[in-house]
Amino acid sequence: MPAHGSAHALLSYRSELPLAAGTLVRVPLGRREVLGVVWDAPAGHASGADFELKPVIGSLDGIAALSANWRRLVTFCANYYQRSLGEVALAALPPQLRDLSAVQLARRMKRPYAAAAQLPPIGQLRTLSEQQAQALSDIEGQAGPFLLFGATGSGKTEVYLRTVQTLLSEDPQAQALIMVPEINLTPQLEQRFVERFGEAAVVSMHSGMTPPQRLKSWLSAHTGAARIVLGTRMAVFASMPNLRLIVVDEEHDPSYKQQEGARYSARDLAVYRGKQDRARVILGSATPALESWQASEKGRYLRLDMRARIGDAALPAVRMVDMRLQPKKAVLSPQLLDAIGQRIARGEQSLIFLNRRGYAPVLACTACDWKSECPHCSAFRVFHKIDRTLRCHHCGFTERVPRACPGCGNVDIAPVGRGTERLEEHLGELLAEVRHPDGSPVRIARMDADSTRLKGALASQLASVHAGEVDVLVGTQMITKGHDFRRITLVAALNADTALFSSDFRAPERLFSLLMQAGGRAGRDAAQAQSSEMWIQTFHPDHPLFTALRRHDYPAFARNELEERKRAGLPPFASQALVRADARSQEVAQAFLNAAREAAAATAVDCFDRVTVYPAVPMNVQRVADVERAQMLVESDSRMALQRFLAAWRPVLMATRERGLIRWAIDVDPLTI
Ligand code: ADP
Ligand code: ZN
Ligand code: ZN
Repeated sequence: MPAHGSAHALLSYRSELPLAAGTLVRVPLGRREVLGVVWDAPAGHASGADFELKPVIGSLDGIAALSANWRRLVTFCANYYQRSLGEVALAALPPQLRDLSAVQLARRMKRPYAAAAQLPPIGQLRTLSEQQAQALSDIEGQAGPFLLFGATGSGKTEVYLRTVQTLLSEDPQAQALIMVPEINLTPQLEQRFVERFGEAAVVSMHSGMTPPQRLKSWLSAHTGAARIVLGTRMAVFASMPNLRLIVVDEEHDPSYKQQEGARYSARDLAVYRGKQDRARVILGSATPALESWQASEKGRYLRLDMRARIGDAALPAVRMVDMRLQPKKAVLSPQLLDAIGQRIARGEQSLIFLNRRGYAPVLACTACDWKSECPHCSAFRVFHKIDRTLRCHHCGFTERVPRACPGCGNVDIAPVGRGTERLEEHLGELLAEVRHPDGSPVRIARMDADSTRLKGALASQLASVHAGEVDVLVGTQMITKGHDFRRITLVAALNADTALFSSDFRAPERLFSLLMQAGGRAGRDAAQAQSSEMWIQTFHPDHPLFTALRRHDYPAFARNELEERKRAGLPPFASQALVRADARSQEVAQAFLNAAREAAAATAVDCFDRVTVYPAVPMNVQRVADVERAQMLVESDSRMALQRFLAAWRPVLMATRERGLIRWAIDVDPLTI
């Protein structure tokens, strides 16, 4: 099988020497020479036609064959997510493996990847909490998969470390895969693993690495030298011959779902892989995905409870601010402002969370109805004051802010709404008079995709927060994830309400986990936990989601949501897939989808009677970069039926022609609808 994007089936080549399945080879494809993987031993089709086959150019000597389990994982992924085998295999291998010549590769292989790294003797280990000890003994005594349901600050990471440690010391070859949603945001985790197991034992895998770094990590894992692979979703495909443990930290995080190409869920693939490889699987979260929670209710996953924080530190008290009772234009209520001031006086930090970057989401003319619409998308361009630009967050189209309204010439065009940049400015004004006990002024910092764009910016900003050089940190959800901030005692969420009434049925689930996670940044130091608070400004303080949040009661929230999902026949009680289509016009995109839908009925595609195919509709953001987008929902109460339907329907989709169609794709188990 050549690793070629458009290859939908296996291709056959001739080889003089017998090549084991899984061997990496170079083969001719058209006029190019490409990387391939021997997928199967010759399946007895050695016929007279063999002489027409092109010969294999050579095999990548010195690199061991990819295991049967690895090939099974790739095959499963391709089948389940309705992609070609070649595409998935190609994406699962480091890019340099494709691009380097055999000579260059041989040179790389001269590096010593020989033996599995030896672990350093480890110093004094801290005493585990009772619930950590219980979780560990459950993990060691049972098969899993495990759902480690642990509050923020309950010490989940220590459980991962100990599990890895026990495993690796019992088996000198064993390897562990640790997955995190965003490795750039969790340098602390990497550091903790390196501290415990030594630099030689740990390699990283994520998209922020250069191709040579990725190849090096890949080879190290593939040869068994690396004992621990730490990575983002792509790491689920790491070739690890002695894989015995997979940890998926923050398993609910949406970034485990790949959003282009093969739209796989790395979490779900991890569970599959664990079963294949007989590796233990631990999914960890304070707010599990409802799919995972339901699986633990049904006993498919074994739930491990760690609800208390280390040292029995209190979770932050949740304070609701009823914005209906506040002055009309108030951004921060006086109570919240006062609470922040008190923190500053005590030398503690506050974190203000607003999920919208830029200065203002819209710029509008005060005289006519001009707004900063993007000419290429059905969306507004965001006003960034720092460089006076209007930027489209969908297509990237950027322009200087016009001097006057392009519609009527009025010079008075004004920002509408508020992003992190404006909030930072506003807080500066509000806190201008506040002083530290020593008389020095308040230090406000902002952290979002804009402020951290430059290499190293994120790390240095995080360092200054940790060093206590910041009093108030303003940011997007980037600041809510994973960081072990020690001095934050107040977290505030400003515009949580939008998600309460979203058309996306997963919006409340995401909001709940986001707020729990944001709250989890407060009071991580037990000494300060007692006074830590989570503030939520809302127009709907009595919403059941907030009631559960006030009690830190994820199980109650999950129970409610799952009941609603069950009534509505939504996942996890049903399986879904989306077919998306892009075209120059919305009509064409929808016509393609509807034609494929009718063809499925007409050709009586397998399982058609067990699935519902809804009519095509425009996507939420209908036009991006001058491309019109439509989608069609496919649903079934049976995952198997949906799978069989999709497999039978894909050829129908491929055969469906529509003039002006640009592309289409299937998204199985989509996260946003
Ligand atoms: P989680 O991942 O569940 O949010 P962490 O693993 O980051 O929690 O632990 C929270 C804090 O508690 C960390 O600073 C960690 O070093 C500390 N910690 C974890 N386990 C213990 C323990 N058994 N004794 C003392 N401190 C611990
Ligand atoms: Zn105007
Ligand atoms: Zn745009």
